[in-house]
Formats: sequence, structure tokens, C-alpha cells
Amino acid sequence: MQKIQNYIDGKLVDPRSGNFLDNINPAEGKVYSLIPDSDAGDVADANAAAQKAFPEWSAMAVEKRSANLSKIADLIDRDLEALAVAESVDQGKPVSLARVVDIPRASANMRFFATGAIHFASEAHITDQEAVNYTTRTPVGVVGCISPWNLPLYLFTWKIAPALAAGCTVIAKPSELTPMTAYLFSKLCIEAGLPPGVLNILHGLGGKVGQAIIEHPGITAISFTGGTVTGKKIASTAAPMFKKLSLELGGKNPNIIFADCDFEKALSTSIQSSFANQGEICLCGSRIFVERSLYQKFVDAFVERSKNLTIGDPADEKTKVGALVSQAHMEKVLSYIDLAQKEGGRILTGGKQVRVSGRCANGFFVEPTVIVGLSHECRTNQEEIFGPVVTIMPFDTEDEVLAYANSTTYGLSATIWTENLKRAHRVSARVKSGIIWVNCWLFRDLRTPFGGMKQSGVGREGGWEALKFFTETRNVCIKL
Ligand code: NAD
Repeated sequence: MQKIQNYIDGKLVDPRSGNFLDNINPAEGKVYSLIPDSDAGDVADANAAAQKAFPEWSAMAVEKRSANLSKIADLIDRDLEALAVAESVDQGKPVSLARVVDIPRASANMRFFATGAIHFASEAHITDQEAVNYTTRTPVGVVGCISPWNLPLYLFTWKIAPALAAGCTVIAKPSELTPMTAYLFSKLCIEAGLPPGVLNILHGLGGKVGQAIIEHPGITAISFTGGTVTGKKIASTAAPMFKKLSLELGGKNPNIIFADCDFEKALSTSIQSSFANQGEICLCGSRIFVERSLYQKFVDAFVERSKNLTIGDPADEKTKVGALVSQAHMEKVLSYIDLAQKEGGRILTGGKQVRVSGRCANGFFVEPTVIVGLSHECRTNQEEIFGPVVTIMPFDTEDEVLAYANSTTYGLSATIWTENLKRAHRVSARVKSGIIWVNCWLFRDLRTPFGGMKQSGVGREGGWEALKFFTETRNVCIKL
């Protein structure tokens, strides 16, 4: 059985304890590889390597750092197919999705920040002709990057690329549920000649090795993406140590559809924003609000399209909905479907685990599920489900739908469908979300600020925001 290893000081190594955990293929429901059960001892080794590498990496000419990262991007492109297959096996997503979304985006992340760092500049201010102020931004030191399981290599590289480009050295931990592509990535770093210790990748449990990364006094900044409950725990450990913190957390995103929308576009994109990646994307629009005059037409068409989505073997090119990431997650999603019915919801399609025939007979598949008849206030509409489950609710006025949209503790993203430009501006300005799409969804420009309001997070990633996070700002004032 394949054994994944940690990547410390430029080498692939077993965890100090010698202990390994099972890694499960969610489409088959069986163990297919082993991952290091790392602990504080491995964090100490990674920290020693990262501290040793920091002076040279942070002082390296930015063009040279950039070339290192671009080389890794090239190797990701070269191995696109193998990485897409590995991501699909490890996570359960359709390979056809990993091939066009996850892996291309991972190399785009590396290349974007490799070139971005070259253009990163700082300000100078002349003060009343009497003084000149100039601002410098220098890498903060050794940083921790912790990522979730839903878009494994995509979100892993979204953090480590700006950290490395800014001149930091990194200790990174992918989710224990989806470690494989981060492991393959560490091999690409070795092949690309990334200097030892610049990036260290530790595998294992969040509460063990993840917590040890947060607690380590040598690690000065933490960039975390994951659930809101974990985010609170991380903040409670890191804040009293005055570590810099970037938190990208959960969401319960509204998808607001006005009667004057382009119906076909709103419908087909809403199918994607509901069920892409089995609904396991923090930006999925899980609460769909439709203006009453369009409501029934939309519901009927949406249910029809949902029924036509092919569920099954992620390796099959025709599959649109693959397996959920784990049995525990599948059970959580099914428990919310149960709750929705107890809260008075009616299931128009889906609602059950799917038994796929053949090699995927024991996999964790759930039907795309559409629920109506619920109040915006019930738990089903307030808590993050993170699966192929959406609710649809009617509304009459803008004020009413804004009250519904803003009623949760989350504020990550929102989608608005209208052909009325004034309404688009008006509603965008009043939705309490950090990321708003009008007449599109998940249309990304990596230069834009990315992150949520309220309990969806603290800080922003993307573009200069990310490079600023991984640097410390210093202002120098010189009297003329
Ligand atoms: P999670 O919080 O369970 O785990 C995320 C990562 O944190 C994993 O690597 C895990 O091992 C680690 N971890 C867990 N406990 C830890 C601790 N005490 N200290 C340090 N690390 C710890 O989240 P998940 O289930 O992997 O991912 C799903 C969640 O992520 C959803 O809530 C989703 O909305 C969110 N998410 C948010 C964004 C965003 O950009 N805002 C993007 C993707 C996913």
C-alpha cells in the first residue's frame, strides 16, 4: 500500500513516531494509502528547517524566487493528468472537474504569485515638503498554512504561493482527508530544485499536528481555510500569541434570482452553483431565493435539471456528481436532509444516499437534493451543510430578500440575477457578503480580494492582499 511521507528540509521522511493513518478512497469506501500521523516533534523539525532556510530565501532576488515558483507551475502543467486522477481518487470529485478546475488553478496560483511578487511595490509620501516617508514590506518569517479537503491542491497552493513569493518560508498542512496531491506536489518541489526547508509539508490530524503548528512560537503568521468552528479554535490559540491571522471560513450563500433575470443563464448557472463538486465548495449558493412571479417556473425547471445530473464513478467522464469526501461527511449531509423534513421541508428531488453499482458500491454518494417549504430562519437555512443540498424560497420585495439573505451568521459570497443594472448595484451594496457575483458565479480574477464578512472569516486573500498578509510593514520618516 502506498505510504505518503512528510516533506521536511527538502527530503521525504516518515513521521518521527512512525505511526500512519488510513487514507480512504471515498468512491470505493476503502483504504488505499497511508498518511503520516505527525505530531509536535515533526513540527519542531519542520520549524528548524524553515528557520534555517529563511535568511537566504527572504534575501533572494525576487526574480530568482519567482523562477523557482514558475518551475513548479510548469511541472504541475506537465503532470496535469496524473494530478487530476489523484485528486479525484482522493477526494471523490469527478476527474473531469479536477482536470479543468482544480489542477489548472493550482498551477495558475503558483504562476500568478510568482509573477505578482515581481510587481509588488510599496508607497512613499512627501509630507508638507518637510519629510519623506517610505514604506517597506518584508517577509514576516516562518508561516503556517492550513487547508481543507474540498479543493485540495487548489486551496493548498492558493496559500503557499503568496507566502513563498513574499519571501516567507512555510510549514503547510493539507487536510488529512485529502493528502495525496500535496504529497505529489512535494515531489515536484524536489524536482524543481526548491531549496531545502523553504517549504515543509506535514500530514496528519488537525487537532494534533495542525494544533501544534498553531501553537509553535517560531511560526509568526497563520493562514487558515476551513470550518468556522475550527477557525474559532485556531483564533483562540493564535490571538493571545499575537500571531498574524488570516481566516477563510464557512458560508451559507444566498443565490438571489429576480424575475427580470436571463432565465436560462440563471437556471443553468444555479445548477452548477448548487451541485458542482457535490456542493462541497465554500462559495456554493445553498439558499436560492426566487421572486414570486418566477418562482414556480424556476422550481419546476431546476428540479428537472437536477434529476438529469449523472451521479456515480468519479473516474467516468460522464459523471457530474461524484462521491462526498467521507462517510462521516455523508452522514452529516443526510442528517440535515432529515432535519429539513422535520422542520417542514418538502423534498422535490433527491434526499437519499445513492448505491452505485460495481467498484463504487460502498462509496459515499448522495443525490442532488432540492427542498422547498422552509422558512429562512430554520436551522436547515442557517447552518452550513456543505453537500449537494439546496433550498428554494419565494420572495416579493428587495427589502424582504435582503433580510433573508443577511439573516445568517455567515457572509462569504452571494449571487444576484437581474438584467436591471440599478437593482444590481443597489442589492450588491446591501448584501453582507465579501464576494458578490452578478449574473455569474465563481468567475474569478486572482487579483481581486477574496474572503468573507461576519463568521465567514477575517482578512482577505488574493492579489496584493495576500502578499501584504505575508509581509510586515515598516514606515521610515526622514526629515528633509
Ligand atoms: P476543517 O476546519 O475541519 O479542517 C480544515 C483544516 O484544518 C484541515 O487541514 C484540518 O486538519 C485542520 N484542523 C482541524 N482542527 C485544527 C486545529 N485545532 N488546529 C489546526 N488545524 C486544524 O474544515 P474542512 O472540513 O476540511 O473543510 C470544510 C470547511 O472549509 C467548510 O466549512 C467550508 O466552508 C470551509 N471552506 C472555506 C473556504 C473559504 O475560502 N472561505 C474555502 C473552502 C472551504
